[in-house]
Amino acid sequence: MDKLSYQLVMIDGVPAGLLGLSELFEQLYQEGVLPYDSELAGKLVAGVRKHNYIPKAAIESYQEALKLEYLRFYHQRKSGKPLAPRDYGLWEGRPREQIPWFPIVSRDLCNGCGACIEICPKGVFVKEDSGKVFVADPFLCIVGCCFCKSACEPKAILMPKQDMLNAYRISKK
Ligand code: SF4
Ligand code: SF4
Repeated sequence: MDKLSYQLVMIDGVPAGLLGLSELFEQLYQEGVLPYDSELAGKLVAGVRKHNYIPKAAIESYQEALKLEYLRFYHQRKSGKPLAPRDYGLWEGRPREQIPWFPIVSRDLCNGCGACIEICPKGVFVKEDSGKVFVADPFLCIVGCCFCKSACEPKAILMPKQDMLNAYRISKK
């Protein structure tokens, strides 16, 4: 059997390493499964469980995180952009993917004004066909930045609290 891909996904702010995610996403994409398919969450969890352990109590969190990842994959795949894994670099000596600092957009509150896309220097947001935006590449977000949150009039963007970052700073003696 070919070696499976390995990808870090943030589940409730904690990184989880998952095997075979790219292969699963590609299979769903080829089957024409859309990011808002009502059966997507079930298909994702069933597919991920073939190669990974998901605790029962965490299923809902996995579903939310996997749907977001698939949404991102789907739009990238559709746009024809390369899907090669990115090197997000380090933050205070830790891999950037281990720092749960990125915006979360409320689909209910977002009015599609595009202010976050305009202000973000890193291209974290992408507008979807519905006009609303989604966080396409969370780990491109600059740790500690809150520009988009300030620019979002309907307060659709949530950012973590600055204090949270202290737990991720490696102590320097
Ligand atoms: S600034 Fe807020 S309301 Fe406007 S597109 Fe971004 S998330 Fe949506
Ligand atoms: S916090 Fe800053 S870097 Fe991160 S998404 Fe918002 S504007 Fe972009």
